[in-house]
Amino acid sequence: MQDQLIQTLTDLVRINSVNPDLSNDGQGEREIAEYVQGHFQGLGIPSNVHTVKGDRCNTTAFIIGDDPNRILLMNGHLDTVGIEGMNKPFTIRKDGDKLYGRGTYDMLAGCAIQMGLATYFSKNPCPISLAFTFVADEENLSIGMEHLVSHFLPTLPTKPFLGIFMEPTEEAIGISHKGYTWFELTIKGLAAHGSRPEEGINAIFPLSSGLKELETINAELAKEKAHPYLGNATLHPGMISGGTAQSVIAAEAKLNWERRTLPDESQEKIDQELKRVITAVENAPGNHKVIGKQVYQRPPNEVDDEPLIQKLREVAGGQDYNGMSYWADSALATGAGIPSILFGPAGHGAHAKDEWVSESSLLNCYQAMKSFIIGFNS
Ligand SMILES: [Zn+2]
Repeated sequence: MQDQLIQTLTDLVRINSVNPDLSNDGQGEREIAEYVQGHFQGLGIPSNVHTVKGDRCNTTAFIIGDDPNRILLMNGHLDTVGIEGMNKPFTIRKDGDKLYGRGTYDMLAGCAIQMGLATYFSKNPCPISLAFTFVADEENLSIGMEHLVSHFLPTLPTKPFLGIFMEPTEEAIGISHKGYTWFELTIKGLAAHGSRPEEGINAIFPLSSGLKELETINAELAKEKAHPYLGNATLHPGMISGGTAQSVIAAEAKLNWERRTLPDESQEKIDQELKRVITAVENAPGNHKVIGKQVYQRPPNEVDDEPLIQKLREVAGGQDYNGMSYWADSALATGAGIPSILFGPAGHGAHAKDEWVSESSLLNCYQAMKSFIIGFNS
């Protein structure tokens, strides 16, 4: 199986699956989605490619188990981030236990594990049903996972009892991850000649009051009780913009910030923070107008530490649970009523130039998943 897993990973990496909305090098996930479908069809397992839009595609496959209504959902994203500055990103290079290449770690290795499991359970009895899913666009707006939630999951005979998203977790079980919310605040002023500021309304000066309030809120968040796996919530201004020329009193300025959220935080709390920033900017000197709003949101994810998850943890080597700082598609599955966790191999360099996955860890994760599934026999 080791050879098959590495061959599959090599093939997956060889197909350019750079997210086209993140980089001009991207071509969409159709080619890789069809390759994955071919693997399942070669095993005699029904499989479909779902077009989300254009060449953005998901692949799904289903094995009916001895208990057909007990379904385990497995998931991986087919897209990778860009390849700028990488030498031969689509060719796997082996250096000891390290397999270098774009997407090896995040997360084509996880996809290869699903495909390896399909090979095994196509030839051996499977106590439960397995839903294999591969999605587009996790690295950007998750249009693939949204499509899967609305178009594929409802077609399953019953709702899966658990989702395992094979993102890289260093073989720990990721039972929680943060969410995020984006805000945009626009300050409207009035343009005027730089030599006659009294004829205009400066939209940039009030920005500093907004930034100051954000700093205050961030400091307050750092003092709150930390989440056991995720630490404290944070925020940061990600973009500021405004003005048209140095010699002109700026008629408009914008402040965009991101708030990383924890599972137990309410929308009310987040709304209150937005209000505080709006008020601070409104109260800054000048006759400017302020419009502040939430522009995008992805929920955090957390599942209970129940016997099923403990069983997976045991076969996976018994490491402590972990929380992931990053957002993942698992939150959308949990939101759809399928408690979902992250579990995947060790490595390094997600989104970096020197991305690699550990070959031995890839094998460990495959074995752990296989044992977990076979364990439903008893
Ligand atoms: Zn990922």
